[in-house]
Amino acid sequence: MSMKAFDVLVNIFFPPRCVTCNELLPYYSDSLFCDDCYDALDEELSQKCDNCGKTVSECRCMPDILRPSLESLVSVSRYTSSGSKTDKIVLFAKDFKNKKLFDFMADKMIASLYASLPAIGDLTVTFVPRSAKRKRETGHDQSEMISRAIADKLSVKFDKIFQKRGEKQQKKLDKHARADNARSSYQIIKGREADVKGKIFLLCDDVVTTGASLSVCAELLLKAGAHKVYGVSFAKTVKRRKVKRSRKSGNKKSYFLKKRLDKDKLL
Ligand SMILES: [Zn+2]
Ligand SMILES: [Zn+2]
Repeated sequence: MSMKAFDVLVNIFFPPRCVTCNELLPYYSDSLFCDDCYDALDEELSQKCDNCGKTVSECRCMPDILRPSLESLVSVSRYTSSGSKTDKIVLFAKDFKNKKLFDFMADKMIASLYASLPAIGDLTVTFVPRSAKRKRETGHDQSEMISRAIADKLSVKFDKIFQKRGEKQQKKLDKHARADNARSSYQIIKGREADVKGKIFLLCDDVVTTGASLSVCAELLLKAGAHKVYGVSFAKTVKRRKVKRSRKSGNKKSYFLKKRLDKDKLL
């Protein structure tokens, strides 16, 4: 891809840096990442889900809390809270308004979506917002930026449906407190309920961990009469589903089953 002369000039004075390791990139670079980080990210994107064995872009696993309200959850990569390239992209997008990065995330999300969404023409894209306070602090809402880019690229309607009240940040809360906090935090913007009725929504979030925020917004859409809600995120956390163990301990079958489960845990 060739760069515009103006961009090259900007790069000479403000050399671009790799989004995930902050290394200086050559002034002529049009890239978001250094070569090493690109390779590492590629590797992360090809990792398999612990539950279903598919790559995350093909995997449709989602937190149980989302099952009643979402048709499916499509994601690109795993959020592991371990400082992975994926984790760093998510955190960078929260703090910095980088249009090129939002486009990159949107492109990846669309590539995952194409495999699973039948009727893209009918969709309305919306997003799980951050609070007005957070938006003021960073100057942007990453999920809004990403979902606008997705709607643009798919040539479908974008609509801002929700607002977030309250200042409590989800990441400081445990799973149950998150669900309660989320339920009281989101609401459909006054007067917008009528615009939801009968529509198919693509509900976008940057990262899905417990699924609390996404489930609340999906439920609000359905309650207001939305026809269906599909979820999409750049990253998601997938916890391994617990396998129910036999209550009758001591019989041969459950002993071998237990052995197998223990072995699985090590893999
Ligand atoms: Zn790098
Ligand atoms: Zn899976």
